Amino acid sequence: MNRKSTKKIKLGNMYVGGDSKISVQSMTNTDTRDVEATVNQILSLEKAGCDIIRCAVPDMTAAEALRDIIKQIHIPLVADIHFDYKLAIQSIESGVSALRINPGNIGSLERIKMVAEAAKDKGIPIRIGVNSGSLEKDILEKYTKVCPEALVESALRHVRILESLNFYDICISIKSSDVTDMIKSYRLISEVVDYPLHLGVTEAGTLWRGTIKSSVGIGTLLAEGIGDTIRVSLTGDVLDEVKVGREILKAVGYIEEGVKFVSCPTCGRTEINLIKIAGEVEKRLAKCEKNIKVAVMGCIVNGPGEAREADIGIAGGKGEGLIFKRGQVINKVKEENLVEELMREIEKL
Ligand code: SF4
Repeated sequence: MNRKSTKKIKLGNMYVGGDSKISVQSMTNTDTRDVEATVNQILSLEKAGCDIIRCAVPDMTAAEALRDIIKQIHIPLVADIHFDYKLAIQSIESGVSALRINPGNIGSLERIKMVAEAAKDKGIPIRIGVNSGSLEKDILEKYTKVCPEALVESALRHVRILESLNFYDICISIKSSDVTDMIKSYRLISEVVDYPLHLGVTEAGTLWRGTIKSSVGIGTLLAEGIGDTIRVSLTGDVLDEVKVGREILKAVGYIEEGVKFVSCPTCGRTEINLIKIAGEVEKRLAKCEKNIKVAVMGCIVNGPGEAREADIGIAGGKGEGLIFKRGQVINKVKEENLVEELMREIEKL
């Protein structure tokens, strides 16, 4: 896949853009002022594979709490600021790795300058985050509606403000809840800037719908080589955001490690309860860290063929199944013992 070349920017102990890996982000939904709850959530997210965390900073207490939070976590923290430059300055002093703030919303140029200079002094980047709900009035009037061109113009306006202050450690996101608008917006902006892009579909919805919308939006762009970091926004458990994000990266080939799981959709040839078996296998593999491909197939027709591609697999029969290991049948097992036997073989790999 030809990944678009972007500027590489430092973010705490890692990089975003350029040849660095595509990172998965999430955002805490705890009260940032509650240090313990926020730290606990971030540590769980780290375990799930979250690379970068963002925290809302609604007031000065939250901005100050960031200092204690950062001491206890291991991934870069991005302070999410709306409007108040003082919160941005305090967050920088608290040691954040990046700011998410739109300079055009801070107020006077003097205030923007203070934030940009403080960020520059500490070598921290600024993410400009435009979304369909935050378009400036004049841009909205010009285009008469929210559209990709309007979103891009808004993002570029913020970018140009920072550039006029000689600030170039910029990351951009243009999120829309409309997937086609989101895709078009990122395509457009990637043609005119080489700053790293943070991809996401905003207000994507609950786990089911949000996963679909995010997979289509983020996945399409990644497959075109656009995007340097991603966030799946879900109305639900933040851990799912990271799980889905990582699965998207796996699906487009940006994450090679871990379990690749394939299972057939079942059909009139299926003679075992494959849906239940596949569900159990997937659940038991959730914590498996081996780099393997596991196939759970309903029958012998396509089963062995698909399973041959896998490191290990099942092909169902009538009330029983064959276990394949790297193309060879190694066992014939009763249906009720298939999951257990498969897991035993996986452990040996
Ligand atoms: Fe049907 Fe067999 Fe294909 Fe599964 S692998 S969908 S059971 S033909």
